[in-house]
This record gives sequence, structure tokens and C-alpha cells, in this order.
Amino acid sequence: MVHDDTGALVAVAVDGPSGSGKSSTARGVATRLGWNYVDTGAMYRALTWWLISHDIDIHDADTVAQRVTEPLLDISVDPSSPAVFVDGREVSAEIRDPHVTSSVSAVSAVPAVRERLVSVQREIMERGAVVVEGRDIGTVVAPDAAVKVFLVASTEVRAERRAAEWAEGHGITVERTAAMLDQRDHLDSTRELSPLSQADDAVMIDSTALTLDEVIDRVVALVHERIPTFAAS
Ligand code: C5P
Repeated sequence: MVHDDTGALVAVAVDGPSGSGKSSTARGVATRLGWNYVDTGAMYRALTWWLISHDIDIHDADTVAQRVTEPLLDISVDPSSPAVFVDGREVSAEIRDPHVTSSVSAVSAVPAVRERLVSVQREIMERGAVVVEGRDIGTVVAPDAAVKVFLVASTEVRAERRAAEWAEGHGITVERTAAMLDQRDHLDSTRELSPLSQADDAVMIDSTALTLDEVIDRVVALVHERIPTFAAS
């Protein structure tokens, strides 16, 4: 991982609930700064997709824990073309399937899953200055990140954004989307290990009434403030 001369980890951690705008924000910040981008949620989804395609019961935590090291997981860190690979095959579209979405929280609550994926995530972060999005980045994966952001938005706005993303395929209503988001956030916030939570030193940004560009501006301003040498590069 890259550190500046004060020892700060040259990384932006973006955490928050589903649909709060983490992906668009993290990609936008990485693009502006010319940094790498890591979507950790895509990795939990990829593992979930692999388990489902191998007919493994995702609620059988022991079996999930036993099989977790089998698939080879990788991602592209280029913010202009994020992609996720399982055993060399790109599964970027498959991992957005509603069945994967409704199954992923059960998988991500298994301690052996978190142990494996956090270690893969830290290896990927070694590739350079990085913007990382997820649920436990500021608290667990990169607690020494120079900038930590906790992104929130109202349930209505989050559901509208997600339903709009899905407009082309799944035909799921905004109300149903809101219920699914709330259920996933509940599971992600109440699990025993590394629950979704705001790090003490994270800056909360409420994106409900902000445009994407305004959110990106705020995060980039924090980078300029905390690690000016790297923000300028
Ligand atoms: O961000 P995204 O919605 O793609 O994340 C999918 C799921 O992966 C989350 O609902 C959560 O269960 C899990 N996740 C996690 N820790 C992270 C990122 C995602 O547990 N750092």
C-alpha cells in the first residue's frame, strides 16, 4: 500500500448503506485523482454467485466456510472499466442479479468469508493509491486510510436510484426495492462480525439533496486537505 511522508495510507475509504451512492462516488473520485478503484461489494457478490452456481446452500455457513478458498477472485481496479472475475471468467453482469443481491448478506456474515475477502482486498490495495468502497473499509479493511467517508441518503432516494438502475431489466417497483434495501441494510448492520458502521474518524456525507458531482467535490476536497501531495499528483 502507498503511504505519504507522514505515514498516512494513501486511500479513501467509502462506506455506507446500499444505494447511498458509494459506487458512483468512489469511481468518480478515483477518476478525478487518477487512482485505483476497488468495489469490495462486487467481491462478496462474486463469491455468492459462485456458491449459487455450484448449488451450495448459502445458508449452510459451515459448507460456505469450507468452500470459500476454492474460487479465484479478482477485479479490475480501473475506475473507467470496473469488472469482476471468478476463475478468470468475467461475471460483472451476473453478480447484479436480484437472486445474488438477496443472498449476499447471508454469505458476507460468515467469518471465513470475511477473512478471505479482506485478505484479497488488502492484496489488491497494494497496487497503488486507491479509493475503496464497502461496508467495513474505514473500520476493518483500511482503518489507517487518510480519508474516510460514510455516505448516507434517505431510503426513498436510495430506492429510486436503485430502481432506475434496474429499469432496463428486472421490473421491480420502487416500493419493493426500498423493502429489499432496508432488509439488506438490517442484515449488514446487525451481523456479529464487521457490521456496517461509521468509523469514529469518518466524515458523514448525506447525499439525499446533493448531485453526484457535489458529493465527489466534497470527497476530493477532503483528499486535498488530508494528503495534499498525493491529491495534486
Ligand atoms: O455494495 P454492494 O451492494 O454491492 O454489496 C453487496 C453486499 O456485500 C452487501 O450487502 C454486504 O452484505 C456485503 N459487503 C460487505 N462488506 C463490504 C462490502 C460489501 O459485507 N465491505
